[in-house]
Amino acid sequence: MTASPYFADLTYTRIQELLDSPQVPVLLWPVGSTEPHGPHSPLSTDPIISIGIAERVARRLADDPELAVLILPTLAYAVTRYTAGFAGAIHVGEETLRSMVVDVCRSLAAQGFPHVVLVNNHFEPEHVQTLHRALDELEAEGVRAGYLDLTRRERAQRLTEEFKLGECHAGRYETSLVLAQEPELVDREAMARLPYVGVSLPEVIAAGLKDFRDMGLADAYCGAPAEATAEEGEASYEALADMTVELIRALVAGTGGRDRSGLFGRV
Ligand SMILES: [Zn+2]
Repeated sequence: MTASPYFADLTYTRIQELLDSPQVPVLLWPVGSTEPHGPHSPLSTDPIISIGIAERVARRLADDPELAVLILPTLAYAVTRYTAGFAGAIHVGEETLRSMVVDVCRSLAAQGFPHVVLVNNHFEPEHVQTLHRALDELEAEGVRAGYLDLTRRERAQRLTEEFKLGECHAGRYETSLVLAQEPELVDREAMARLPYVGVSLPEVIAAGLKDFRDMGLADAYCGAPAEATAEEGEASYEALADMTVELIRALVAGTGGRDRSGLFGRV
């Protein structure tokens, strides 16, 4: 038997051993929406990116003497209204998402796993705000879960030019990350034909738009997906894993580990 980084792949006896060991357990929770990501990238683009980050962080910390990092089953349903006009978007309401996050973290904390870190890559403001609300509620109960909010300016600064511009739905940035993690799920012929769509999501969201077609995303993407490469994706994963490891260390040390609402959240 090889050691899986996935929490749910283990037996309860292994989980008990983990609880009895001096290592501090940290559970990464991949979060994303099942929703349209252009005519080239799968509905599962956001969860794939979150899993890609979590797996790299787990690999990096595999031999850490103090931490035992495992990955929770993915939460692939999100508050998803902007892509409702395209086939395949699955929306769950704010209350459903809030309850799921609070209940899962509460259940884990009660049995000795207080350090859950949300690894989220769906940036619709109502979704991001709901995650923050759930974490506020948990914090009020004494459960401090972690969250790397990539919509914060200082986080975005460490990512690619396209991401910083806010042209970050199924464009070069996200498509590169999928190419590095699940290359067979990207339709490269469709990708190569897609023209650049220069729409900054924070700007159109700030202007009050709530539907991708109204925002100018006629094919459910913005940015330049035709320029995506697996190499860029791998480089982005490096930066994303760096930030996540820093956040985990701060969370376990009790000196941080929770970003507050970011760029999109303020609009
Ligand atoms: Zn996405």
